Amino acid sequence: MENSFYNYPLLIKQLLISPLSSNPEQEIVDNENQRYDYKRLNTNIHTLANALRELGIKKGDTIGVMAWDTIRYLEFFFTIPMMGAILHTINIRLSEQQILYTINHADDDILIVHHDFIQVIDKIRKKISRPIKIILLNSKKYNLSDNNTYLYEDLIKNKKLKFKFEDFDENTTATKFYTTGTTGDPKGVSYSHRQLVIHTLGFIAGSSVSNYSHRLHNEDVYMPLTPMFHVHGWGFPYMATLLGVKQVYPGRYEPKRLLDLIKQEKVTFSHCVPTILQMLLNENKKLNYDLSKLKLIIGGSAMSKSLAEEAQSQGINVVSAYGMSETCPFLTIAQMPSEARISSQKELIKMRTKTGKPGPLVDLRIVDENFKDVIRDNNSTGEIVVRAPWLTNGYIKDEKASKELWKGGYLHTGDVGYIDDTGSLIITDRIKDIIKSGGEWISSLQIEDIVSKCKGVKEVAAIGIKDVKWGERPIIIVAKIVTENAEDITKRIKERISNEIKKGLLSKWAMPDKIEYVKEIEKTSVGKVNKKLLREKYKFIKTNE
Ligand code: AMP
Repeated sequence: MENSFYNYPLLIKQLLISPLSSNPEQEIVDNENQRYDYKRLNTNIHTLANALRELGIKKGDTIGVMAWDTIRYLEFFFTIPMMGAILHTINIRLSEQQILYTINHADDDILIVHHDFIQVIDKIRKKISRPIKIILLNSKKYNLSDNNTYLYEDLIKNKKLKFKFEDFDENTTATKFYTTGTTGDPKGVSYSHRQLVIHTLGFIAGSSVSNYSHRLHNEDVYMPLTPMFHVHGWGFPYMATLLGVKQVYPGRYEPKRLLDLIKQEKVTFSHCVPTILQMLLNENKKLNYDLSKLKLIIGGSAMSKSLAEEAQSQGINVVSAYGMSETCPFLTIAQMPSEARISSQKELIKMRTKTGKPGPLVDLRIVDENFKDVIRDNNSTGEIVVRAPWLTNGYIKDEKASKELWKGGYLHTGDVGYIDDTGSLIITDRIKDIIKSGGEWISSLQIEDIVSKCKGVKEVAAIGIKDVKWGERPIIIVAKIVTENAEDITKRIKERISNEIKKGLLSKWAMPDKIEYVKEIEKTSVGKVNKKLLREKYKFIKTNE
């Protein structure tokens, strides 16, 4: 008899098997008042696939999406790759020129565009280099006047409820998107079905290791607070779906609405960058909602101790995780023991803010300039290089940068750090952000962490400015609480930094030459402090205060 062994390919469509079998009635909600179950999610995926096939979409085609975080977007996360096509999640916060660049560079064949972004598309449309079809989402009329434009709602009407999603090679590209583009043109990365499926399982396993962990489980209610265009919302919509968790999609991020949704829908699991957390905490000072059921993973930038303290004081269970666009993104997560094993509040905050331990299968090394592992002495730093089954294989159409990224067979993160005595990674800086002064390396993150604890400081960024004598000198940019006096804050900052220097915890060169007060610190399109721009802005500042 012939052996009919099924050589199971790892495909996005398979993430739907278990929830549809064990939890088909589970709810998915969004702020546009849609509320349906997993069965309906599945039907919509099939209907949409039939509609896209009718428009001519076939394996290998690319569909760009410009949308807020909605149920529809979740449907695109599945339908497009399941057809063998490629989902291009467009970063809606890039400039028009950069959006145009990514659409052309990604070779998009169709754009699905939410009503709110029609004007952007209208402006750049003539410069799109390929013939393109446009599907308007949440739009009742054709705002674009030509016959290659379709209304989403019309398109899915009266379509068959079944589509045959074929098997194909698990290494087929499923998604692509572009890095935030603070330096030159944005760079494109892509992920295969296999990579996304293993990443999904990898995070679920990696977050279950410790006792008091940020495990996502089927009694959780999940809501993204990292946009779905940014590294697939860090991959959580795929994880939540696989586990059959109740999901809530918040649309456009508005602090009050986000908090209302957390309260009304009883959200227990989310993830975001520090600036979004800060925004939520500020808003909740007015609303005073109970956030004690919320597990929140903070990544994208280091979470300062003061921010972790503030979150904890509002009841949120926060921990740090680390990754990047090029790594799908999961690399490490802080592992929390049961509270009983934590000796003090200070210790608890320290554990929450550690960059964390590598996830399963993540081979993480800290290397010196000669690619040798640095000694593990709780102090010696080097570049973080990694291998894992879900890292991007390079930058789209950029061989040179791809070779650099994968030099020596490990992906170079461009981040600097060390492994502490508990085995946790501590990131001290990005290579480009380290301040090199008087022959010493000063961690901009360390300065920021110290300054952020000073009363009156709302936000801080430390950068190095070129200096003839010392190579570079640190300056800090502070957004202060309006009611506080700048001179008093300056005094506090200097006192704190000099204490740390006296204790030997900070290099003697770390005292900033200048403290600049601003209303707000410039951010990148994904809400991180834009140090490149700050360096440019302050490059001529006099640093001999
Ligand atoms: P992106 O590709 O925009 O997601 O940015 C990735 C970069 O964000 C990393 O290379 C790090 O420099 C930084 N990053 C991400 N997570 C953390 C973290 N937990 N602590 C410090 N930096 C982080």
